[in-house]
Amino acid sequence: MLIDSHCHLEDWVKTNQIEKILAEAHEQDVQKFVTVGTQPEDWHIYASLASRYNCIQFCAGLHPLNIQENFEVQLEQLPTFLSHAIAMGEIGLDFHQLPHDKSEQIVYAKRQIVVFEKQLRLAQKHNMPVVIHCRDAFEIVGEVLKYTRFDLHNVLFHCFTGTPQEAEYLLAAGAFLSYAGVVTFKNAQAIQNTILATPLDRILVETDCPYLAPVPYRGKTNTPALLPYTARHIASLKQMDFQAFCEMTVQNTQTFFRTCW
Ligand SMILES: [Zn+2]
Repeated sequence: MLIDSHCHLEDWVKTNQIEKILAEAHEQDVQKFVTVGTQPEDWHIYASLASRYNCIQFCAGLHPLNIQENFEVQLEQLPTFLSHAIAMGEIGLDFHQLPHDKSEQIVYAKRQIVVFEKQLRLAQKHNMPVVIHCRDAFEIVGEVLKYTRFDLHNVLFHCFTGTPQEAEYLLAAGAFLSYAGVVTFKNAQAIQNTILATPLDRILVETDCPYLAPVPYRGKTNTPALLPYTARHIASLKQMDFQAFCEMTVQNTQTFFRTCW
């Protein structure tokens, strides 16, 4: 069995295809799903999905690219959703897609940092693990985690694409790393070295669907049913039996999210 530790199921709920998508995943032995919220508009969709399907759990958080000027209002409902969620996420920093204008860049970056810190403190208050989105902002994410004194045992870096050195720093502090379909891409040599540096008891696997479909479906719509392509790739890098690797990732997912649902 596999658990898709990070997926966005919203599109299939809206188009009434969720049953089909789950059935296709189950056929590939992807049995459970952590669907991840990115803004108030999808938190309620995922909370209701999780209440309807035993195989689905959800996270709620404000994604750095969905932060608006009125972020205080956006964050108002978050505590209510956290009482049903298994983690806060995805939250973090994304400096890859900042506006071109320099002064606007600073405003956006600062706002992301403020909202990230606020959510980390809220997670501490609720004693919840967090799922982190980090793009072109590794050092500052590290600094914010440090000055909020966030326990890295409660941190999962999703779709991790960092260097082996960055991985080692996080792993030494107790963090978990989740790998997505990018590890199967031809130009992914660097990330493969990072995977080799990640101990087996800290690896989770995810699709991040509908984005980042693994090879041989690169460029197409990703779905949870494609997770085995990524898992197989990592298992072979680790020279490990596929089933044993899958079991290991399931155990890691349950440990990180503190659930054995
Ligand atoms: Zn995501």
